[in-house]
Amino acid sequence: MRPPMTLANEVPALLARMGVTLTSGALPAHSPITGERLAAIAENSAAEAGAAIDAAQAAFRQWRNVPAPKRGELVRLWAEELRAHKADLGRLVSIEVGKVVSEGLGEVQEMIDICDFAVGLSRQLYGYTIASERPDHRMMETWHPLGVVGVISAFNFPVAVWSWNTALALVCGNAVVWKPSEKANLSALAAHAMLERAIARFNAEGGKAPAGLNGLLIGGRALGEALVDSPKVALVSATGSTRMGREVGPKVAARFGRSLLELGGNNAAIVSPTASLDLTLRGVAFAAMGTAGQRCTTLRRLFLHDSIYDAFLPRLKAAYASVKVGNPLEQGVLVGPLIDQGALDAMQKALAEARAAGGTVHGGEVVQTMGGAYARPALVEMLDQIGPVLHETFAPILYVMKYSDFDATLEKHNEVPQGLSSSIFTNDMREAETFLSARGSDCGIANVNIGPSGAEIGGAFGGEKETGGGRESGSDAWKAYMRRATNTLNYGSTLPLAQGVTFDI
Ligand code: NAD
Repeated sequence: MRPPMTLANEVPALLARMGVTLTSGALPAHSPITGERLAAIAENSAAEAGAAIDAAQAAFRQWRNVPAPKRGELVRLWAEELRAHKADLGRLVSIEVGKVVSEGLGEVQEMIDICDFAVGLSRQLYGYTIASERPDHRMMETWHPLGVVGVISAFNFPVAVWSWNTALALVCGNAVVWKPSEKANLSALAAHAMLERAIARFNAEGGKAPAGLNGLLIGGRALGEALVDSPKVALVSATGSTRMGREVGPKVAARFGRSLLELGGNNAAIVSPTASLDLTLRGVAFAAMGTAGQRCTTLRRLFLHDSIYDAFLPRLKAAYASVKVGNPLEQGVLVGPLIDQGALDAMQKALAEARAAGGTVHGGEVVQTMGGAYARPALVEMLDQIGPVLHETFAPILYVMKYSDFDATLEKHNEVPQGLSSSIFTNDMREAETFLSARGSDCGIANVNIGPSGAEIGGAFGGEKETGGGRESGSDAWKAYMRRATNTLNYGSTLPLAQGVTFDI
């Protein structure tokens, strides 16, 4: 009799197709879908972390001399590897962190998109030419590679966030050492192998990518701390909880390193009287329930105008009641598992706190299925923005509040300590523009008539306040991965000083 097909049986074949051979060890990898153990792999030691940082520093010294468009060619090859393995890597992401199939694939598409962006960027690392106040002088800015970039990533975007950082860091002339989430090591190994293969192809075609350019550290937070503490790591780009950022930020600052922090969110949407309710329903449902509420940009607070509250809430409740929760690999399922039992416990605790604060909870029940940590998404009617509403609980809980005054609601919108993403649903031009203005949303991302989650790579991504202030991905986020030099050139035969200063000797 053939053994039943399990995820643990499937994963070795997936990994083999992506060219990954596991080194067995004591570190277990689980699937949140069934709770089953997928593998037990080797963890890197502190000494190996030090060696990876040293190797990256040596690699940086060579890589910075490779012309940027040639560095872009490596990233172009990397995108080819990702395109060739999109289905396998997307499936592995779904198996390892519980995303529905289209979101697993979407994560890999995001990696391809940032690579394409970075290839173009490799010919556009522009600096300004600046008018000088002195005759026969010219001023300009040049942008230079920074050094070793340490990337620490979270479980919920286990490979995309690394590629956002790495695609830009590489074209900017840096070396990278990555400490992925301890909850998603297999996806990390597979994604890393693709870049290694691109490096091998690049070198086979005459490129000069040095060994150590693309380091990987498999293990727990101690390895993240090794990146944070090393003066050889010029930039620490850390994505995860605000708790983590509070530890990382001051340590990097104390050694005058640079940090780029992408931390927790507590994202809101305002639904105004003029909103198109069909469009709003879809926008709210995806943003609040997608990825089982485990996106940094997940919609967590909803302000409904009192004139549409009674028309909209029943429709939203019906969407919540009908959404299919279960195995994310099955067609039609929109909400998969939470990452682990701890996340489920935190969700139930937040719901109990919401009840104690006078909230009415719809949904949120634990679903006993297949050995994973599953719950139905929860809608909670709150009378005010208090208690658990002020915190990020990394689970599908949407707190709904009624409002009547737009300006007062804008204040409430901005009252929470986090500042990542935000939305308004309205057809009132004044409200939309006010929301996007200086006195509007205080978040790094502010949208009109789409939900707060699901950003495109072309824009700069990140948020304010306890979200950490970092910006990654598109626009001019690349500048965080380079150092700027201001140059003044004198092509005359005298030496006039700035500000009319005289110094005659
Ligand atoms: P986490 O903070 O538990 O872990 C994130 C990473 O940091 C892991 O790799 C972990 O090993 C490492 N780490 C933890 N403490 C550390 C320390 N003191 N020094 C160095 N490294 C340390 O987060 P998580 O549970 O994996 O992810 C969920 C959180 O991430 C949520 O709060 C979510 O909002 C946030 N997130 C933010 C963004 C964003 O772009 N703003 C994106 C994704 C996730």
